[in-house]
Amino acid sequence: MYTVNSSYSKIPGSYLFSDIAKKISAFTEENPDADVIRLGIGDVTQPIAPTIIAAMHKAVDEMGDAATFHGYAPDLGYEFLRKAISESDYRKRGVDIDIDEIFISDGAKSDSGNIQELFGMENIIAVTDPVYPVYVDSNAMSGRCGNYIKSEQRWSDIVYLPTTAENNFVPELPQKTPDIIYLCLPNNPTGTTLKKDQLQEWVDYAIRKNALIIYDAAYEAYISDDDVPHSIYECTGAKSCAIEIRSFSKNAGFTGVRLGFTVVPKEIKCGKTSLHDMWARRHDTKFNGAPYIIQRAGEAVYSESGQREIKEQIAYYMKNASVIREGLTKAGYDVYGGINAPYIWLKTPDRMTSWEFFDYLLKEKNIVGTPGSGFGPSGEGYFRLTAFGTFENTKKAIERIVG
Ligand code: PLP
Repeated sequence: MYTVNSSYSKIPGSYLFSDIAKKISAFTEENPDADVIRLGIGDVTQPIAPTIIAAMHKAVDEMGDAATFHGYAPDLGYEFLRKAISESDYRKRGVDIDIDEIFISDGAKSDSGNIQELFGMENIIAVTDPVYPVYVDSNAMSGRCGNYIKSEQRWSDIVYLPTTAENNFVPELPQKTPDIIYLCLPNNPTGTTLKKDQLQEWVDYAIRKNALIIYDAAYEAYISDDDVPHSIYECTGAKSCAIEIRSFSKNAGFTGVRLGFTVVPKEIKCGKTSLHDMWARRHDTKFNGAPYIIQRAGEAVYSESGQREIKEQIAYYMKNASVIREGLTKAGYDVYGGINAPYIWLKTPDRMTSWEFFDYLLKEKNIVGTPGSGFGPSGEGYFRLTAFGTFENTKKAIERIVG
């Protein structure tokens, strides 16, 4: 008789966004005429930029001609894309990442969920709290998080690094030494980030403790402050202790297109074992590559016109972010984020729990946001709004909240 992975039974409820979707559909069934504005899920609303669409069309045509048809992609991804990434995302910022250290994938969710496969079960995992739930959930599925303590909304064996208004969203170095540290900067959900010297402290700490940092930079394109690093490799020594994960979802609207990459520097070694070789072996065995058409789309992101067009989109979303920030601040809310990231993080009013505020906004204002507690224990009492809606809806939503 077969058995199942019993770790799944320890994981609480369903994924945060399924719970939200259920609440919305119950509400809209009862109130079919309600004009519900969704500023909850982190999905984009603007169409793919023209330069990228043109590149995809061209690639589609190539696939229809025997002379230019492409079958399986090379294991790490096409060189044209890895070169563009190495040049534009790294060399231009003074960071030397070899094209063979870049692994193209179908997105940052897969990579950030799969990367834990490389590590032993005994590793102690640390996450900033609150954070994108995939890091904890994927480790929990592998049985690396101990037991879920429902009353405290936390796992027994995870080291949580609170990032809240109390510490100005700068996590403190932990008392208990972790082996693997997930940092997501700019952060989802708080929309806050670390300056270069603050990130350097984490890199120095990881080197001192022989720990590894998994750095999710999915929102790098939204950074506007000069002293905020775009890559962890801008910090000294990071190539020996950090893996970086990136996505095309939020900078170029690829949430439905699917493309991302992970950088595993060759110099990261666990004893004599190269993590680069392990990840290459895993990629080789379990992944047959992102589609040619999509990798061409990714290449177009780095073209001159592609860059100009995506910057316009990012500016569009960041205009929404400032509408939300300013509107809520004027209305007396404590508001964070929204400057180097498309997320606005607010303190719930009147000591409401995150879910109470969710219900209030949905029922009274017909607005959907995301309860902070869904992102970790320190998210309780906070709430996330995203800047990914249309400008019109964002404005309307804030007028409703403020009014
Ligand atoms: N990493 C973070 C921090 C995210 O917030 C998200 C999506 O919301 C992802 C990764 C997923 O990225 P992708 O669409 O490339 O899978």
